[in-house]
Amino acid sequence: MTMLTKDVAVCIRAVDYSETSQIVTLFARATGKISAIAKGSKRPKSAFDGPIEIFSHGKIVFSSSNKENLATLTEFEQQPSASRLRSNLFALNCCLFGAELLNSMTDDYDPHPGLFDSFIQLVQNTGDAKNESEMLALLILFQLSLLKEVGLRPVLDTCVNCKTRYSTGHLTVERRATSDGFYFSSSANGLICPDCEANYQDKMALTKNAEACLANLKLLAGAQEKTLNEVERILIYHFTELLGHRPKMAKHILKR
Ligand SMILES: [Zn+2]
Repeated sequence: MTMLTKDVAVCIRAVDYSETSQIVTLFARATGKISAIAKGSKRPKSAFDGPIEIFSHGKIVFSSSNKENLATLTEFEQQPSASRLRSNLFALNCCLFGAELLNSMTDDYDPHPGLFDSFIQLVQNTGDAKNESEMLALLILFQLSLLKEVGLRPVLDTCVNCKTRYSTGHLTVERRATSDGFYFSSSANGLICPDCEANYQDKMALTKNAEACLANLKLLAGAQEKTLNEVERILIYHFTELLGHRPKMAKHILKR
């Protein structure tokens, strides 16, 4: 039986299927990720307000007979959100990276309304951001909320192994005199303290600034570009381990 479903969605991928049609991947708020064919979307007059563009969002109606097959998109009231992104290549790349991760870290028909909201926020706020540091901070926040939503929230304020709390207080500073700082380990899914680091093969050393940002995400907003790049490098390493391949968009984000 074919069911008509109404939802609100954002386009995270669009490819041409024929002269007149597209196949789109949509992330729908109540439904989760769906792949659908949009028949006639490239005709001048269609039910989609023109060809479907990546990052467009709005109300959709789709029909699906079963979850194995492509759904059929019958309506899409597109609100373009990419216009401001197009004027800044780095902003666009941050959102394309977000879309790639959203696509590869979620399953079809697995709803995550909070993740839908975070992604819309990423697209809108990145378009408004004043500089690349701000854009990168927004991407990092989205990546962390993605990990949390899919049940992989990393431990970022204590050592995963011995629960030593990361702190900038006296004790830690004293300890710093004789040992190195914390590490991030993908297999441990979080921070590893200097005492435990020898037990973990896969890890990246963190500078004090990067560590402070991870333990207190509010610091991301005022962080230096160098620190943001370091945090992003750690997240790219982590996503690479999780996915089993390096995300395609990573090279457009970390140029420096
Ligand atoms: Zn430890």
